[in-house]
Amino acid sequence: MCRSCASKHETQLSSDRDKWPIGKIENGCFYKICNLLDLAYLSNEPLMNALGCFDQTTAAGIEKKYEREGGLGIAKEVLGKWGSSNQENNVGALKKILEDTMKRVDVVIEIEKWESLSVCHGCGITIKLSKPQ
Ligand SMILES: [Zn+2]
Repeated sequence: MCRSCASKHETQLSSDRDKWPIGKIENGCFYKICNLLDLAYLSNEPLMNALGCFDQTTAAGIEKKYEREGGLGIAKEVLGKWGSSNQENNVGALKKILEDTMKRVDVVIEIEKWESLSVCHGCGITIKLSKPQ
């Protein structure tokens, strides 16, 4: 863990990153994932349909909100909401939806890059390997 989490005695997250909440994905990686998902035409199934926790009114509202940006920003908002709505909506669940429903292997590859990244198991920030712990 990073120094700040160690001093705060932060609860350590699982060594299995599939069990991590979406909110703990390192920011830079999360942005990449969202940017890819905003390329909705690559998806076999629209993101909000695939995640399945948005009713039509909410989905239409979110789409309208990002209409002027050509839909950019939708994935960030939607994944944030989905991830915090239910504890089971974790990284592993997202990967499964991406693979099975949306057929977005490109996004799964980004998640797997993050999984091999050395991050703090408390707050999720990247830990620089050059600094010995
Ligand atoms: Zn930390």
